[in-house]
Amino acid sequence: MASLSLKHIFKVYDGKVKAVNDFCMDIKDKEFIVFVGPSGCGKSTTLRMIAGLEEITAGELRIDDEIVNDFEPKDRNIAMVFQNYALYPHMSVYDNMAFALRILHLPKEEIHEKVMWAASILGITEYLERKPKALSGGQRQRVALGRAIVRNPKVFLLDEPLSNLDAKLRAAMRSEISRLHERLGTTFIYVTHDQVEAMTMGTRIVVMKDGFVQQIDTPVNLYKYPDNVFVAGFIGTPQMNFFEGTVAKYGDDVLFKLDCGTAIDMKYIQADKIPVRYMDDKHKIIFGIRPDDVRVKSEANVDDGSWASAKAVVSVVEVLGGETLIYGNLNLETPDAEEGAIIIKASPDTIVRRGDVIDIEISRRKFHVFDKETEKSIRKRIPDASYVNASVLDGNLVIEGQSFALPSAVKCENAENIEVVIPISALTLGKGEGKAKVQWIENVEGKSLYFLKVGDLTMFSLEDGEATFKVGDSVDFDIDFTKVGIDALGVEPLNTTNILDGTFSKEKNKKEKCYDFFMNVGTAKLVPAEITCEKVFAVKGSKIFRTPLEYIFDASVATVSGHVEGAENVLTGIVNEILDYGHIKYARVDVEGQSIVVEYDGAEGDKVDVSIPAEAITIKDKTIDIIIA
Ligand code: ADP
Repeated sequence: MASLSLKHIFKVYDGKVKAVNDFCMDIKDKEFIVFVGPSGCGKSTTLRMIAGLEEITAGELRIDDEIVNDFEPKDRNIAMVFQNYALYPHMSVYDNMAFALRILHLPKEEIHEKVMWAASILGITEYLERKPKALSGGQRQRVALGRAIVRNPKVFLLDEPLSNLDAKLRAAMRSEISRLHERLGTTFIYVTHDQVEAMTMGTRIVVMKDGFVQQIDTPVNLYKYPDNVFVAGFIGTPQMNFFEGTVAKYGDDVLFKLDCGTAIDMKYIQADKIPVRYMDDKHKIIFGIRPDDVRVKSEANVDDGSWASAKAVVSVVEVLGGETLIYGNLNLETPDAEEGAIIIKASPDTIVRRGDVIDIEISRRKFHVFDKETEKSIRKRIPDASYVNASVLDGNLVIEGQSFALPSAVKCENAENIEVVIPISALTLGKGEGKAKVQWIENVEGKSLYFLKVGDLTMFSLEDGEATFKVGDSVDFDIDFTKVGIDALGVEPLNTTNILDGTFSKEKNKKEKCYDFFMNVGTAKLVPAEITCEKVFAVKGSKIFRTPLEYIFDASVATVSGHVEGAENVLTGIVNEILDYGHIKYARVDVEGQSIVVEYDGAEGDKVDVSIPAEAITIKDKTIDIIIA
């Protein structure tokens, strides 16, 4: 039984090589987690930090709620299986498996029982007397697994355990390890560079690249809803097809214009998760479609409006028996060019030849769209926000003919045809000035995603649990203006994350004969939590006193009260602006020459004390940009 929690884990080698950046994840008991990504992306480093074989530069690692950063590997109750088996060559299989138990001075009978149990699970009972060199690769890996399971660890870590085996054996061992996971009912963390291995074994997969987590999700979700071009291309074989181009909206219709010359048309409601800002025929996008979501046109195909027609020229046909892969190009003039290249997974009875020009159909449901510049998905499963064209008229925001009174904190002049970004969490249903019609509801992992028809546009709202409203309902909606951005008018969503420059210091406490530590912001001194002190010293040692830091906290954790002379452990400042959002009021407070935002219901010019719970403050080392506590 073990759950793990990795909070802001960093690994920095030699003070500069950032091998792992801000790895955050909660792993539940009995999960089978796979870390996958190309060589050098930081997967092994992360695994080795969990094992205790590599020091954690910064961050917090918990096993079953206990912080284990400083635990020796042997005290973490973890077993690790390596790619090269790491068996003792001079010992028999039996002794290899019994070794760790003998070190623990377990009774002989108990050791025997455990070894025989593990050997029978792994089917190696008949080799117990052999030396490792008299075993095949697959058998050796079984012994390595056996050596791990006899110890009955809380967590199993496996670092590319199958990469020394041939393809057939690898496939067999994959299912064996999956069965072992089911049988043992322990938490497994498995590292591989092979996406097929990841997809077939993991209950959840962490895709990594260049030291950064790209996406954490189930195999199915990674395949269906990749967050970016990297994940989209990495997961799935044959790879997703990518085409650069632009997209435009003409009334109810949307047209993707690919650089290779092909145009893909569809209805706006089939593409309405894409922010309209991209539908300007200018923004460069990448259109992605999996080989499974393209089909060769045939009489038998049902036309239900969810397939767009196109043409392709065939360059290579691979008949695989169960299916046929057609390699071709959307640009009929350039069958072998990279630009416009497409792979189509067709049924085995499809008969096409090199040079044929074929009619194909591209799914209008299962396509992907990415921003060319950021390579992030812009057709996300849950859209970040509704992007709407609106105007501002005398203190009102007008969206599709509907007026919303702007709170006094949102100051802007009259303007027409400007983009307003309303994050999905800013739009709530069931009350408010807005009127919408529920056009569609999608269930996304226990949440209800509403597609709301507002005039000509689709807007989004998310509700936890079952949907309160149903398709066809007319609903009222409310906009939380603290979250709304109107770029063109300089209106930004209220940023409630406060960042203060500061330092860390110590003072001799004569009475207690020890040092007191402080988080300094200008002349203000805040008392850190004990755990914070431990963490900053663990990462920085005494260098902490010379390191420029950032103290980060959210407005929601701060409490504000009238200034009291001599108050300690507070930030004292002057309110220089009141931000009235109607349902909530905030204040900008000048503190030691820096500005913070807090919830406050007073007046401009007030002198206030802001207190922040010590454990709610995050500390960042500005020199190498890592979170240290
Ligand atoms: P992966 O397991 O994904 O192949 P690693 O975790 O082994 O990647 O390595 C991640 C990065 O850290 C790589 O750039 C690698 O060169 C670097 N690295 C790993 N170990 C060390 C080390 N001991 N000293 C310096 N850099 C290292």
